[in-house]
Amino acid sequence: VLVGFGRVGRRVGEALHAEGQPLLVIEQQRDHLEELRALGIETILGNATREDLLAAANVAHARALLVAIPDAIEAGRIVHATREHNPGIEIIARAHTDSGVLHLETQGANRVVMGERELARSMLAML
Ligand code: AMP
Repeated sequence: VLVGFGRVGRRVGEALHAEGQPLLVIEQQRDHLEELRALGIETILGNATREDLLAAANVAHARALLVAIPDAIEAGRIVHATREHNPGIEIIARAHTDSGVLHLETQGANRVVMGERELARSMLAML
C-alpha cells in the first residue's frame, strides 16, 4: 500500500508497478486519479488518515506500507493506525525534519527516509 502519488510516491509507485508488484495507492488529489487509472494501478481516492480508507486498502493483510506524504503529523496518524491493525507490516515513511523522523519511528515506522538528509548524502557522494 502506497500513500501519496506526488513527486515522491509517483516514482515509487511506477517502479513497483513496472516490476509487477501488487500495489494499491491512496491519494487525496483527484487530479492524480486519471494518471493512476491510465497506468492501471488500483487506487482509493481520499485522505489516508481516515481509518475506513486504511481498512478498505486492507492494511491488515498488506506486506508493506509506504507513506510518501510530506506532513509528519498526518503521516504519523497513518503509521500509528496501520501498526495497530498489522503488527508485522513493514512501514517505510518520509520525513523532512529530525523531529519528524523521531515522531514517525515512535508511531511505529520501521524505517524513515529524511528527504533533506538523502539529498545531502547524494551531493557528497557525487564529489
Ligand atoms: P509530493 O510532496 O509532491 O510528493 O506530494 C505529496 C502527495 O501526497 C500529493 O499528491 C498529495 O495529494 C498526497 N497526500 C498528502 N497527504 C495525503 C493524505 N493524508 N492522504 C492521501 N494523500 C495525501
